Amino acid sequence: MEEVINKLKDIIADSKHLVAFTGAGLSAESGIPTYRGAGGLWTTYDPMKYANIHFFLEDPTYYWSFFRDVRYPIIKKAKPNPAHYALVELEKQGKLSQVITQNIDGLHQIAGQSNVIELHGNTRQIVCMECKWLFSMETVYKRLEQEFPPNCPRCKGLLKPDTVFFGESLPQKALNEAMHAAQNCDLFLVVGSSLVVSPAAQLPRIAKENGASLVIVNIDITPLDGIAELVIHEQASQVLSVIIQRDESQGWAL
Ligand code: NAD
Repeated sequence: MEEVINKLKDIIADSKHLVAFTGAGLSAESGIPTYRGAGGLWTTYDPMKYANIHFFLEDPTYYWSFFRDVRYPIIKKAKPNPAHYALVELEKQGKLSQVITQNIDGLHQIAGQSNVIELHGNTRQIVCMECKWLFSMETVYKRLEQEFPPNCPRCKGLLKPDTVFFGESLPQKALNEAMHAAQNCDLFLVVGSSLVVSPAAQLPRIAKENGASLVIVNIDITPLDGIAELVIHEQASQVLSVIIQRDESQGWAL
């Protein structure tokens, strides 16, 4: 472990434009289950019923009971973990220019990260599919007692979490910004992603094709391990908290 950590420190020290790309594994240590892998949500809940736009439009009760019984209590309780704070520290130290996340939990921003691109939206916001008004998840959670599934209090339109369901496109602006960041970085650091959900999972490949080094920190193997300069199969918080520890004798963090 020490050897790979030292290698990662060297790679980060040499980098001028570091971009981090995060997935559900980063928030697993905050108590939010991943989708895939051991204990993943999709091992219990069928994504085609709970996160598919066509099914949702036919019968939104599946999603809203999942929100009421599973999603809301978990997200409400979750707090950023050392891996989120390590990325904030890298940003403060001027090393990290951009975080691109597939996570919908908002924990990067709660930890204090300023440059975050959310590719799959944010589940803390609920949007009216008709008038596009936004509500907090707390407001809608309370509303569920009176109305299930909930409708927009303004126009009676259908409410949906402000996230990207299967069958929906990614927000174009976020995708463009993420592509730009991937094309212009010199180090692309993947943390806690299975790298199987496209188009998000294409970004490491794009970074690599444009000359960046690719580093992957993930417990399980990923389809892109073979093209990475460095792969660390360890917990995100363990790796990232060591990375940001300052060594006064050597200057920046290393
Ligand atoms: P994923 O569930 O497909 O993969 C997560 C990966 O993280 C797995 O390969 C697992 O081995 C790894 N992992 C688990 N714990 C880890 C840890 N402590 N340290 C390092 N790695 C760990 O998640 P993904 O790749 O982000 O898939 C994308 C989809 O999952 C997106 O659509 C995203 O919106 C959604 N998602 C988000 C959240 C969240 O916001 N927290 C939670 C679940 C799923």
